[in-house]
Amino acid sequence: MMKNNKKVGKRKKALFRLYILLFVFVVSIVTLLYLNDTRKEIVLDFEANLLWEVQQSSKDVSERFKSKFAVLETVQDLISHSYHIGVEAAKSMETSRQRYHMAYLGIVDRNYVYYDSSGDTESDIPHERVDLVLSGKRVVARSNDGKSPDGIIFLSPYWEDGEIVGVICSKYLREDMMEELIDKPQEGTDLIVDVNGEVVFMEDDYKEYMGELSWEKFYAKKVNTKLKEQFDKELMLRGSAVAATKDKSGRQVYFAVSQIEGYPDFFSVRLTSAEVVEKVIQSSMVRIYLLMAFMIALIVCIVFHAVWTYIKNRKEVYKAAYVDQLTGIPSKSKHKLDAQELIDRQVRKYAYVTFDVDNFKYINEMFGYEYGNRILIHIANVLQHFTDEHELVARISADNFAMLLENPGTKEELSKKIKRIFEMIVEYREPEEELNLCSLKFSCGVYEIDEIRDINKIRANANLARAESKKRILDEIVFYDENLKTRRIEERELEFDAEYALENGEFLVYFQPKYDVTSEKIIGAEALVRWNHSTRGMLSPGLFIPVFESNGFIIRLDMYVLEKVCELIEAWLEAGIPPVCISVNLSRTHLYERDLVERLVSIVKKHNVPPEYIEFELTESAFYEETDRLLRVMEEIKKAGFRLSMDDFGSGYSSLNLLRRLPVDVLKLDRVFLEDCDEAEDGIRGKRIVMHVISMAKDLEMEVLAEGVETEGQKDFLQEAKCDMIQGYYYARPMPVKDFEALYNEQTVS
Ligand code: C2E
Ligand code: CA
Ligand code: CA
Repeated sequence: MMKNNKKVGKRKKALFRLYILLFVFVVSIVTLLYLNDTRKEIVLDFEANLLWEVQQSSKDVSERFKSKFAVLETVQDLISHSYHIGVEAAKSMETSRQRYHMAYLGIVDRNYVYYDSSGDTESDIPHERVDLVLSGKRVVARSNDGKSPDGIIFLSPYWEDGEIVGVICSKYLREDMMEELIDKPQEGTDLIVDVNGEVVFMEDDYKEYMGELSWEKFYAKKVNTKLKEQFDKELMLRGSAVAATKDKSGRQVYFAVSQIEGYPDFFSVRLTSAEVVEKVIQSSMVRIYLLMAFMIALIVCIVFHAVWTYIKNRKEVYKAAYVDQLTGIPSKSKHKLDAQELIDRQVRKYAYVTFDVDNFKYINEMFGYEYGNRILIHIANVLQHFTDEHELVARISADNFAMLLENPGTKEELSKKIKRIFEMIVEYREPEEELNLCSLKFSCGVYEIDEIRDINKIRANANLARAESKKRILDEIVFYDENLKTRRIEERELEFDAEYALENGEFLVYFQPKYDVTSEKIIGAEALVRWNHSTRGMLSPGLFIPVFESNGFIIRLDMYVLEKVCELIEAWLEAGIPPVCISVNLSRTHLYERDLVERLVSIVKKHNVPPEYIEFELTESAFYEETDRLLRVMEEIKKAGFRLSMDDFGSGYSSLNLLRRLPVDVLKLDRVFLEDCDEAEDGIRGKRIVMHVISMAKDLEMEVLAEGVETEGQKDFLQEAKCDMIQGYYYARPMPVKDFEALYNEQTVS
């Protein structure tokens, strides 16, 4: 069973681990997907930002260009009214050149003759550009031919009387323009390119990315063709676009291009290394990873905690339901499950044993519940110690225990095995345990398991046998057999028939005479009931008294017997026959009747019988249950004037101490005393005991009656021992009233 539980536990643990793994796996996948999404988002964000930046710088550039051309227009306005195009006009511009920090300022006429404000005639302006401007266009271009200093030239048509007569041009040095055109705080590199792909302006670090690669080539090389088409289309439609490519050393590079407003031939470009994006991505990845790791850890913790609490709770519930709290052995519910499983396996032959401690209630009351509990724990310990691995023990309730024992085969062997366990309960001592176990007696029922495999039926049968064992004083262990069941049915029938039988006069009162030891004359009689059953014939009280004791009918029956006895004494008194004292048995069930004594008195009174002619016999076994109640009832009976005897003294727990307190007139020694006297070896000892008991009773001013005297030898011994009265087959058996009257008559006559 335990192994099985362990197996189930292992399987559950493996399953649990699998679930955790699956969970971590799913979370990882989700995290990766999420990371991918985040990455895309970051890149998109970055691209949008890059686009925005390039648009901003293109606006700035456009403003700068406009202002440069505005300067050229102002200068032209100033001079064209006073001079024709030529040396003078150029010279008059010198102050303007200085004011606007130009590298040069000059005019080119339609014949490409150059007039500089400084008087110089050398020019770095190509003729095609001049032609372009003469056709009415404005031109911005890079001038870096190696001869003159690197710079940017602005060319604008020169007008006279509404006609373009030449080109006015200014040049700014690159380093001067730098500050104006580029917002340095941003990362990356700015370029300005014209429609032909020629770089008008570029930052120095362009080379860092592209090396010697010209913008044109770089642009041509950008990404794959499909993207290129898309890029160009977007640039055409929106005036700006963004893309990624590889730089000279193979690193990822982003670049954004934007048309410069008002100068459709010029573009502003921003180039940025992908490292920036990667950094952002990495830092957010790290954040996400950390978050995810934290979440996984948290969830795993929560799950572990939940599982742990669940397991703990289950264990507690299991313990509460399946383990007996007092003794620690399995409880009834656990036992039923385990037993059913073992029985179903059909590997071994089993017997189901159920037993309880006789008069455990008495132990509890006499010595306290704590002591009673210690006895139960002791029993549980012994059961566990002295049963095999594949056998089961359990505490079913209070003092009721159950065992599933391997059946050795025969009833004798099985009986021996159970008796051995009971012996161990009585003999086995744990160190420091001070329990008085000698007086422990058990009622035990056994069911040998065969075809019936349902644990409930098995238990019911064993319990039936145990109930039978309670009724039998000598049989501690009773085996279930089919007769038990039929007997049970018969008992039911007896219960059923009782009421009618009483009305129908089926119950007869027999008398068994009591004799004086010395005179050997009848000095009294005991009334003993018989049932002349309508169908079953004469039944002995041993058959029906226990049944009526358990259903309470005995109270009515005893009253009936008393009534019959009183009727007889009344008749004797009326006939002038001197009556003898007749004893009537009172079952212990009466002790629970509140108005017992009143009822007894009223019956006696009804028949005008003086109470001293009636003696009530109370069984010794009645004494240890609720001693106080018993004493009270006895006192009342005595007070009412009846005689009282203690029946069956010596047959069970004999409490000599209690005897001192009991107000009884007669002590009826049980038959067992005489049996002891007959034994050859024990005989002497038995006789001594009887003599002692008799002398002790005398000390207490009690008379002594010996029951069940069957032989002359017994009679002689009792005479010798100064016993007062004798009742037994030696003199007479219980007999019908008529026979008793005849016998008694004979004696009085003689
Ligand atoms: P008990 O009160 O101990 O009655 C004595 C029993 O011993 C009687 O059995 C009697 O027949 C038997 N007996 C007498 N002398 C001898 C002998 O020499 N040898 C042997 N072997 N037996 C002898 P009985 O009549 O079968 O009654 C059995 C028990 O039934 C009684 O035991 C008593 O406890 C109970 N009982 C009988 N009648 C009544 C009754 O009216 N009311 C109650 N409450 N119990 C009764
Ligand atoms: Ca009796
Ligand atoms: Ca008796």
